[in-house]
Amino acid sequence: MPRKKLVAGNWKMNTTLAEAKALAEAVAKGVGTAPAADVVVCPPYPWLVTVAEALKGSAVGLGAQDVHNEAKGAFTGEVSSGMLKEAGCKYVVIGHSERRHVLGESDVTVHLKVHSAVEAGLTVILCVGETLVERERNLTERVFQRQVYSALAGLTDDQWHKVVIAYEPVWAIGTGKTATPEQAQQAHLFIRTKIRALHGENIAAALPILYGGSVTPDTAAGLFSQPDVDGGLVGGASLKADQFLAIVKAAG
Ligand code: PEP
Repeated sequence: MPRKKLVAGNWKMNTTLAEAKALAEAVAKGVGTAPAADVVVCPPYPWLVTVAEALKGSAVGLGAQDVHNEAKGAFTGEVSSGMLKEAGCKYVVIGHSERRHVLGESDVTVHLKVHSAVEAGLTVILCVGETLVERERNLTERVFQRQVYSALAGLTDDQWHKVVIAYEPVWAIGTGKTATPEQAQQAHLFIRTKIRALHGENIAAALPILYGGSVTPDTAAGLFSQPDVDGGLVGGASLKADQFLAIVKAAG
């Protein structure tokens, strides 16, 4: 069965409450009831419930930008998978490069978060990607293996269906530099081939692999036309409804 494309908007630490509501309403309206691609928006935590309300009855899914691995307790400032589900989330982004490289999140932490989110029934959008220095030193594939294997080791076959991988070269995030469609395809194919070798054809063939890194309406169609690029994780361009909807259209 061909994989359905997915376009997810990562709003990061942006929007006021009023802007978040208006953006969610505009995306819901623009996407309509039967989009050709799955669409998700990931607002900041405090806006989740309001955005869930704005998306009610629409085809747009709700995601969070991070989660803690524990279910509850003395973890000041953190939010659990159960809380995200109760707020209306179906998705959660884990291991975003800003969390890994700016906030110091380790592969071990990412692994724990992925497992607890999947066990709670959330679909995880696991971000992986190399820095510019790693690419220049030809370490890109090694980085994928480390990040992908360590995050996903130990999942059951059923749990794999709750995983989406987002390949996001760190040098392309928020920089205006997009990987070429060929660079994205090469990276995605490498990841899928490794997953196939380890977990078999069914899991590898069903696994959505998104591209992220300065996706715009101009670059989306070329990227999404690649056989192993199953949509996008979009930062900056997801904050403008018209741009995000144009990217969604390119995935349809
Ligand atoms: C992101 O943060 O996941 C991202 C891809 O950002 P941008 O589209 O702004 O590069």
